[in-house]
This record gives sequence, structure tokens and C-alpha cells, in this order.
Amino acid sequence: MEQRYFTEEHRLLQGMVREFARSEVEPVASEMDRQGQFPTDLVAKLAKLGLMGVPIPSEFGGAGMDTVAYTIAVHELGVVDASLGITVAAHTSLGTMPILMFGSEQLKKKYLAPLAQGELIGAFGLTEPQAGSDAGATRTRAERRKDRYIVNGQKIFCTNAGIAGVIIFTARLIEDGEDLGICNFLVETGTSGLRTGPPEKKMGWRASDTRSLYFEDVEIPLENLVGEASRGFSQFLEVLAGGRISVGALALGTAEGAYRRALSYSLEREAFGQTISKFQAVQFKLADMATQFEAAKHLVYHAAWLKDQGYNIVKESAMAKLFASEIAMDITSEAIQIHGGYGYIREYQVERFFRDAKALAIGEGTSEIQRMLIAREILKEAELS
Ligand SMILES: Cc1cc2nc3c(=O)[nH]c(=O)nc-3n(C[C@H](O)[C@H](O)[C@H](O)COP(=O)(O)OP(=O)(O)OC[C@H]3O[C@@H](n4cnc5c(N)ncnc54)[C@H](O)[C@@H]3O)c2cc1C
Repeated sequence: MEQRYFTEEHRLLQGMVREFARSEVEPVASEMDRQGQFPTDLVAKLAKLGLMGVPIPSEFGGAGMDTVAYTIAVHELGVVDASLGITVAAHTSLGTMPILMFGSEQLKKKYLAPLAQGELIGAFGLTEPQAGSDAGATRTRAERRKDRYIVNGQKIFCTNAGIAGVIIFTARLIEDGEDLGICNFLVETGTSGLRTGPPEKKMGWRASDTRSLYFEDVEIPLENLVGEASRGFSQFLEVLAGGRISVGALALGTAEGAYRRALSYSLEREAFGQTISKFQAVQFKLADMATQFEAAKHLVYHAAWLKDQGYNIVKESAMAKLFASEIAMDITSEAIQIHGGYGYIREYQVERFFRDAKALAIGEGTSEIQRMLIAREILKEAELS
């Protein structure tokens, strides 16, 4: 797989992120999970390494690399700590990319460099109490009043909300009492009337920051509309299509982290006078895990490569996210099984990977929504042929 998609630059990046993940993140990941503690210092180190803006062009302060490179970075972080991986993915794919993809020159100039350099953290608020999968049911409203929008509403489950400097959010644009549909807007945290709730107490991704957002007569300037009013809905769908590749990458990392632990445990643990790796039942589990992982890797890196070549990736990114998140659940579960009772105990860490894996099939579109997207695309293709 690597031979096909990786350049020398990709390999260097992989080595650098891998080294950082092993030396700086792995030793503290378990404790941060236990305490539900956001790793401010690690994010600052990621920023120094240029990892908060991997796919952002260098003219806007980013590393100027491609989607394959970004996929490598999130994948490698996920091998040791999914919480840190999702922090980077939400910041990059959802908090920064909408500005690069659809923002005005003014928004790009003002926000991209500080975001890409990690001086500001980005977030994306789409989900509401009554609008998750059904994003069209969004109730948050941005009413135009001469030179500004007045925003009222609520968002939930917003990753990075508590540490973000900038939040992209969706709201219905109301002009002269008319509902013009859902658009993307940018708000700086600290703006009067914008409040964040307490951190959610989560099953997994516990060291990532997830909160509600409350908008009460929040005033934002007209230039903070991100993209075109008439294309708001399709634009955020495009953002999510790209974001799904990074969730697929995180699923690869989560699966690989658990698989590696299970493989080495099987070579150490003895039962009935031999290591458990000698039992065919364990070997078959390892073989299935390795095969699932390899298949997911192909799907995820292929989707990333297609995006870099400028292809439409709606179907491929949904397939990559769906498959990788579901095999991450299977692999992390089997990793616990291979560890036996120790797998259920925190010290052995595979239970953390299992808890983290579950979120992958929910965030950025549930598995059911991915199947709907894939079915829609394949039926469209069949009708056209
Ligand atoms: C840890 C975490 C972090 C998150 N981060 C963010 C973030 O940064 N920004 C953000 O905006 N959101 C975020 N989310 C929200 C996430 O994207 C939503 O939870 C997800 O899209 C599902 O929406 P919902 O929770 O409202 O579930 P619902 O939409 O209510 O779905 C409930 C169930 O019904 C199924 N379902 C719904 N509609 C259909 C249908 N048409 N056909 C078949 N089945 C269907 C779903 O698949 C699911 O199984 C996060 C969530 C979590 C858990």
C-alpha cells in the first residue's frame, strides 16, 4: 500500500510523527484518558512540528502538504492516542478547511495562518439537540440586520469547543424574514453572547474536548459568512466528505494500536505450556485483524489520494470511513479477547482503544448515514450507465 501512495516526503513525515507519538504521547495517553484531561502542551508541540496545518498551503502558513500526508499524521497519532488524533482532525478538517475551501480572501488572510500554525484552534458546530444525522433540521438562526448577523441557537457535541479560538458553525440564514437555507458562518470565541457548556463526560476520546455551544443574540459581521449563501448546505457536505477521510485515518490508528498490542501479547502470554500465539484460534484472530486492517488502509489512503487528484470523493470517503470505523470496532474487541481478563483491565490499555473506537462509527456521520450516501452514489452511477 505504502509503495503505491507514499513519496519520500510522506515517509519522512510518517517517521517524524511516529517518533513524536511514541516518545511524547504514548507515555501519557493512558493517564490523560483516565483524568479526561485535554493535552494543551502536546497540542503546542504538534503546532511546533507543523502538524496543526498539514494540508494547508504554505502561503497561508501551513505545511503545504497533501491529503495523503494529513492522513498519515492522523493515522500515526491514532496508533497511540485517538483523543489527540480527533483533536487534530476536528481542528484541521472541520475548523480550518471550510475557510480554505470557501472563505473569502479576507477570512483566509485573517484566520488561516494562526489556525495552521496552531496559535488558534478550530472547531465545527453542526449538530444540535434536534438535528444530528438530519442536518437539514438545523434550528440555529442567523438573522441579517443591515451590517451584521444576529445568531441564536444551540450546538451540541462540538469537538474542541472549549479550547477553540474560532468556530465554524451552521445556521439558517434569515433575510427580511425569509429563510434562505443553511449556511456556514465563523465566530470568534469570546464574542459576547456565545457561551460554552461544561466538557461532556464521554465513554472514549476522553482527553478531547467536547461541549455544547449556546448562541444568545451573538453579533457577527457580514464578512463572517463562509462561502456562498446559496450553496451553504452543499458546501458543508463537501467539508464533511473530506473530513471523513481523517476519521478513517483515525480508525486505522485505533485499529493498529490495538492490533499491535494483541500481537505482542500473544507472543508473550503462555497457556497450556506454550505461548497463546501457537493456538490456531488465536492465529486466526490475528490473521483476520491483519487482513481487515490492510483492506481498510487501502480504502482510506485511496480516498485520500483521489482527493489529492481532484476527484469527487463522496462515495470513496464514505466507504473508507464506514469500513475503517467498523473494523476498528472489531479489531479492538478481538484485541481484548486475545488479552483475556487482562484486556478488561485498564493497565493493559486495549480497553481504551475499544472505547475510543466506538465514536468513529458515530461522529461525522453514523455508519447508517455512510451506507445511505454510498447507496445513493452507486444507484446514481447505475442510472447513468
Ligand atoms: C465524541 C463526539 C464528538 C463529536 N464532534 C462533533 C463536532 O465536532 N461537531 C459536530 O457538529 N458534531 C459532532 N458530533 C456529533 C455527531 O456528528 C452526531 O452525534 C452524529 O452525526 C449523529 O447524530 P445524532 O447524535 O443526533 O444521532 P441521530 O441522528 O439522532 O441518530 C440516532 C440513530 O438513528 C440513526 N439514523 C438517523 N437517521 C437515519 C436514517 N435516515 N436512516 C437510518 N438510520 C438513521 C443513526 O444512524 C443513529 O444510529 C460528535 C459526536 C460525538 C459522540
